[in-house]
Amino acid sequence: MVGSAVCRLLADRHPHVEVITCARNQLDLRDESKVRSFFEASRPDAVLFAASRVGGILANSTYPVEFLADNVRMAIATIQSAYTTGVKRFLYLGSTCIYPKFAPQPIREEALLTSPLETTNEAYALAKIVGLKLCQYYRHQHGVLYHSAMPTNLYGPGDNYHPDHSHVIPGLIRKFHDAKDADLPQVAIWGTGTPRREFLYVDDLVHALIHLLAHPDPPDWVNVGYGSDISILELAHTIAGVVGYTGAITTDPSKPDGTPRKLTDSSLLRSTGWKPTVSFEEGLERAYDDFLRSRETGNLRSR
Ligand code: GDP
Repeated sequence: MVGSAVCRLLADRHPHVEVITCARNQLDLRDESKVRSFFEASRPDAVLFAASRVGGILANSTYPVEFLADNVRMAIATIQSAYTTGVKRFLYLGSTCIYPKFAPQPIREEALLTSPLETTNEAYALAKIVGLKLCQYYRHQHGVLYHSAMPTNLYGPGDNYHPDHSHVIPGLIRKFHDAKDADLPQVAIWGTGTPRREFLYVDDLVHALIHLLAHPDPPDWVNVGYGSDISILELAHTIAGVVGYTGAITTDPSKPDGTPRKLTDSSLLRSTGWKPTVSFEEGLERAYDDFLRSRETGNLRSR
């Protein structure tokens, strides 16, 4: 989702930038020698690392081995290969789940490694911390401009709509859409509905990434957030409204809640001139349009 939004917005707004991409089936980013050969052949001026094994709360807690091992291997192979092939600039994408479960809200960058992580996404968070720290260490030890961005929960065109592996917004768009189609009287959302989450439309993240890549002295890592959060139950009612589902919404406390609240403080990035431009309501409408279009054209991502 992030990679395709980067390509779309760069082509639209910065057509002079030559974008070099590699698809998963062309290059295994866990394989350092292959990544090194790719960089040797393509010689990028900068690398934007948007590749990860990602998933929602259930996928994360069910497959911690893959979430830790694959993401650590991709981070190390890519960052090291960039350095050994002379790439001067590297922007690594992490996630705000790197912060402790009970970090003071809104979460500032300094909260990193101050107390234990949320268990449902610990494996992914650990991998993202390794990537962030490796960039920081390369920058300090070798003087290359390797730095990171930590986006809050993202959504938008190209999202993954898998019923079990997706994040909450695509998960609920699909659930409510299918329930409307099947005329179901009620839909159960996972958990208690009380956790609070912050959501950022993917294009706003991409604007932040382009902004950071042009910054002469960016922070080692920086939060990228929307600025306000919403409870999962409120979110469910909002998405049901967008989709046009009018049945009842119930909760399923047998499913995990995850961290109680995850609202980021993005004042560091905002102080450099970035701010989000797509309202949550507008973003949800666009995401649902994308869902409908992708479904119609047989391009719905669901894995
Ligand atoms: P998290 O932010 O890492 O916890 O990731 P998710 O986006 O997967 O989940 C956010 C919250 O939404 C959690 O409290 C989930 O239990 C809740 N949730 C409710 N319904 C769903 C659903 O259908 N799919 C997902 N992924 N989460 C849901």
